[in-house]
Amino acid sequence: MTRRCIVLLSGGLDSMLAIRIMQEQGIEVEALNFKTIFTCCQDQSAQVARDLGVRLTVVGQEDDYLDLVEKPQFGRGKGANPCVDCRIYMFEKAKRFMEQIGADFIVSGEVAGQRPMSQKRRDLDRIAHHSDLDDLLLRPLSAKLMRPTLPEREGWVDREQLYDIEGRSRKRLIALAKKYGLKDIPTPSTGCSLTEPKFSKKVFDLMDAPGESRRWDYELLKVGRHFRFNSQTKVILGRDEAENDQLRYAHQLSDANSTASLFPENFLGPRAMLIGPRTDEAIEFAASLILRYSRDYDAGNALIRVDDEIINASETEQAKALQTIAAS
Ligand code: SF4
Repeated sequence: MTRRCIVLLSGGLDSMLAIRIMQEQGIEVEALNFKTIFTCCQDQSAQVARDLGVRLTVVGQEDDYLDLVEKPQFGRGKGANPCVDCRIYMFEKAKRFMEQIGADFIVSGEVAGQRPMSQKRRDLDRIAHHSDLDDLLLRPLSAKLMRPTLPEREGWVDREQLYDIEGRSRKRLIALAKKYGLKDIPTPSTGCSLTEPKFSKKVFDLMDAPGESRRWDYELLKVGRHFRFNSQTKVILGRDEAENDQLRYAHQLSDANSTASLFPENFLGPRAMLIGPRTDEAIEFAASLILRYSRDYDAGNALIRVDDEIINASETEQAKALQTIAAS
């Protein structure tokens, strides 16, 4: 009887190898890519799935994902990345998918000791246990360093043809890629903004702000320059036309958390969005930021549209803006 597994496909070399190893053993493979608002590698995974001849399903996060980003049970990496909790969440989703489609087990390309956060031996055990997969989760690249899983004990997978790779070196992985005929070897990347120091700073700034942050607020962390006015209020400024459009669109959404949208009326410059109490001071702060990032405006008559009204931004406000400290 042909057994079927689900391989978590990030689009990286490890998950490509995991697929190839299973295919070599005659196991039917379904690929699953997990997408969060912070990841960006689903296009690469689609190409990889095509190249390897497997069907790909992309699963998105639900709103409860943000709970673990804000309060991870197992800590974070160097940035805001809660990798262990995130992997548990992914594998819980994979388990549900496995049950839906009647697959037999889950496979992941994780390599013991490769990443400081989430791939230490203890973390790999934790992830298998807390996702309720336990020995239905097989890591073929490091399987020989671990206890045999159910697919190995049952003989669905031949343990002798699995590997004992450990650590950060890619040497053995690249040799395996050659052995399995993989030509386009991707460079290592998490593809996740939560690991980036600059982006993480914005995430922590949002978490420190009073009130509950929602998906809308997190989505906007990827857009524009962020300036904090006070603990409750911040301004986002578009960096180009596309971002100006994104800010305009986000402000119009029914779940928008923004309180004002500002745009130059008689000169060229960025759009600004205000999040937090719409006080005169906050509007002036946002207007002065627009002037700071604009050229060729009449300092005495720089008109800015604030939703349905027009204000004249003064030089004084521009001077204020120059003293602001960017939150990002
Ligand atoms: S790098 Fe990002 S997507 Fe990957 S496990 Fe960590 S938090 Fe999750």
